[in-house]
Amino acid sequence: MLLGADGELRQTIFGEMSALAASTGAINLGQGFPDEEGPIEVLDAARQAIRDGANQYPPALGMPVLREAIAAHQQRFYGLRVDPDSQVLVTAGATEALAATILALTEEGDEVLTLEPFYDAYGAMIAFGKATHVTVPLRAPHFLPDHEDLRAAVTDRTRLILINSPHNPTGSVLPRETLELIIELAYDHDAIIVTDEVYEHLTFEVEHTPISSLPGGFDRTVTISSGGKTFSTTGWKIGWIIAPQPILQAILAVKQYLTYVNGAPFQPAIAVGLGLPDEFFSGVASTLQHKCEILSAGLTSAGFTVSTPQAGYFVIADAAALGVTDAAEFCRSLPSLAGVAAVPVSAFVHPDRRGGFETLLRFAFCKKIDVLERAAAQLAELRLN
Ligand SMILES: *Cc1c(COP(=O)(O)O)cnc(C)c1O
Repeated sequence: MLLGADGELRQTIFGEMSALAASTGAINLGQGFPDEEGPIEVLDAARQAIRDGANQYPPALGMPVLREAIAAHQQRFYGLRVDPDSQVLVTAGATEALAATILALTEEGDEVLTLEPFYDAYGAMIAFGKATHVTVPLRAPHFLPDHEDLRAAVTDRTRLILINSPHNPTGSVLPRETLELIIELAYDHDAIIVTDEVYEHLTFEVEHTPISSLPGGFDRTVTISSGGKTFSTTGWKIGWIIAPQPILQAILAVKQYLTYVNGAPFQPAIAVGLGLPDEFFSGVASTLQHKCEILSAGLTSAGFTVSTPQAGYFVIADAAALGVTDAAEFCRSLPSLAGVAAVPVSAFVHPDRRGGFETLLRFAFCKKIDVLERAAAQLAELRLN
């Protein structure tokens, strides 16, 4: 199978940690899926849609009710006017949106710039497209890119600047000045911005600013999001792309031969979700922040140096103060040491660029409060010496 440069290792570590959690009975905080159900209105809408017969191929762009809900959502939360009939495309999750975008917009040898660590699928998809993967590092404790690094990394060879804010795995949120710089660089070097915003509603103290809402942003940006993280429906795989029409058409030309369409009964259900009242959206974020605090306290008691994520499902903990030099190795013993499984941040980094990331672990806190309390208590007991 064709994989990214370190694809094999990533598969091994994720699979290995889940298998290890299962065999030792450890709490699995390695994988980032919620263990609680999302809003009942959304779940019921999918059941109803199946009963109502929404069981055949939906239109190629996605069902009008969902495209209209996506456009209304952009207007409601960000004041953005988007045409649901020419600027919105429903996809099989953010994953297909990313694949179709990268395959449609790059040619062999084009450079795709991402932040590093990066969501593991990016590396594989860039490799599928035979593009060249260039990265800018995000360093602890804030995990934000250095502006000089960004300026140096974007050149006339750069085809796509692929950002992810809020960011997985670090939980950082790109500040406005950085988004503005990225727009400037995209214009200067004729690059297209691709922004993965699947955690847009899961920010804690900061506001999410879509890069397409900033001056000049919309015309050069492919915005990707998904219902999975917001509505705890990661298995439904309903995502979407918002882009100017000519770019969207190019992506559709690829997408129609990937899945063509997907998830007929889930599309109207996600439309219901996007229209839920404000309290739903603020509630998901504040619940997650509370969960993050519970787990972070346990990690701190265990002796980790814990970062403060601004959003998302994950917290980064540095095990250097525990005398750990290789987080991947440490992750293999953590289930027996503390009854908790995590993944090493090196799984989100190129093998030849591990410097500075070797002692970092990623823990997921999108789990039930009692599960996190148990994990925190077990971690607090961790004594290495
Ligand atoms: C979960 C995740 C995705 C995948 O989203 P789907 O809608 O499940 O395909 C994409 N990007 C990031 C950063 C993610 O964390």
